[in-house]
Amino acid sequence: MNMNYEIVIGLETHVELSTESKIFCSCGGHSAANEPNDCVCPACSGMPGMLPVMNKRVVELAVTAGLMLNCEISRYTTFDKKNYYYPDLPCAYQITQLNHPICTNGCVPVKTSAGTRDIRIKQIHMEEDAGKLVHGGNSSFVDFNRTSVPLIEIVTQPDFRSAEEVVVYLNKLKSMFRSGGISECEEGAMRCDVNISVRPEGSEEFGVRTEIKNMSSFEAIERAIKYEAQRHMDALEYETESLVQETRRFDDVSGKTFAMRNKETEADYRYFPDANLMPIVIDDEWLEEIKAKKPAAVDEKAEEYAAVGISDKEIAMLLSNHKLMALLDDTVALGCNPKDTASWILTDCAGILRKDGKTLNELEVTAQTLSTIIKMVDSGDINRNAGKKILIAVVESNVDPVAYCKEQGLDKKFDSSAIDSVIDKVISENPKAVEDFNNGKVKALQALFGACMKELRGAGDPAVIKELLEKKMSK
Ligand SMILES: [Zn+2]
Repeated sequence: MNMNYEIVIGLETHVELSTESKIFCSCGGHSAANEPNDCVCPACSGMPGMLPVMNKRVVELAVTAGLMLNCEISRYTTFDKKNYYYPDLPCAYQITQLNHPICTNGCVPVKTSAGTRDIRIKQIHMEEDAGKLVHGGNSSFVDFNRTSVPLIEIVTQPDFRSAEEVVVYLNKLKSMFRSGGISECEEGAMRCDVNISVRPEGSEEFGVRTEIKNMSSFEAIERAIKYEAQRHMDALEYETESLVQETRRFDDVSGKTFAMRNKETEADYRYFPDANLMPIVIDDEWLEEIKAKKPAAVDEKAEEYAAVGISDKEIAMLLSNHKLMALLDDTVALGCNPKDTASWILTDCAGILRKDGKTLNELEVTAQTLSTIIKMVDSGDINRNAGKKILIAVVESNVDPVAYCKEQGLDKKFDSSAIDSVIDKVISENPKAVEDFNNGKVKALQALFGACMKELRGAGDPAVIKELLEKKMSK
């Protein structure tokens, strides 16, 4: 290639919100549905005469997202109808926001190998999702479970310059939205349209833009951007084809993009204000209430954790799961050490769950219970082994930690005389092992140590017991 090119990318990201009901009716979110069309009512299936009723929680989550992305929050926000016909859209229009979106003018710093750059957020708007078409045999079926599930769409300015920046940005959104309880961002709940063009380096003008629609895997997005950018560069450099503004789809198998249709303009949708929904006014009081509930920004949170010695790997685990983060923060608030607590949760609890084929998502320990166990260990009432035993019982059968500790005799304070007598007893009961040990079989010590620990029911400091045992046997 003779010329150097610059890639210019803008992103529209649709994120499904974690609300208990749909955006304009009381049907459950579609994840609650088991069968097609079992989360549907006259309103969300577009029956004549039904009116939408705004879900307040959607506004709060959209504002929280806006605050996290450093946006201005619109105090006056309205809905518009976007008209088009498709079988998965029962009203033949989608309720969305065109004229007065809920958030505008945000900014997200994105850090890559090329340094940190600010990506400007043009706007965030609220809208409803469409249904789903299912094709089988000679028929097509429509499932309205997803119809009217609340979405926010985050629209950036064309500020990305590489696929790497896009992927870092998307991962950052995912962490933020999970930590903020905005969305679980599970597979398919975060979908992107990528606008891409290419221009000679140093040029101020934008090249011809194409849009790759509806991708949810970050890996596919990265491949699609790389393929499409190369296609544009080849077209400019070698005149292999003439670029047109169009919508394309990415085929995951071939790794190529294909034209779908010429790009519609806004005029094609005949937007007009939705007279069925009142404008929403966000007053100071409501905004302050939402602000007060907003979790700390992901960057701030990561810094806070790093400062108390939590490892990068643990921080990444915490930031991707707001439930774990809340458990850690709440346990620390009850007086436990943060680094230590992180290890109890991310190593010990995770290990116990893994044995049962479960993940940390299924952890149901409360901060109160966890802090009780940690404090018993920290105060020296029990050793860490005993603490872990209690934790296992708590995680697996939700027992009361204090009662369980008493019941199992784990709280016995073993002074050295108690340990002494246990060791003497074990030695006198196992003359053969003692003889083996004195004849150079080091392994025999392990068996005796095991017998002592069994006798002490896991209490006492293992290092001290081992040392004492060794001393006595060498006599
Ligand atoms: Zn409904």
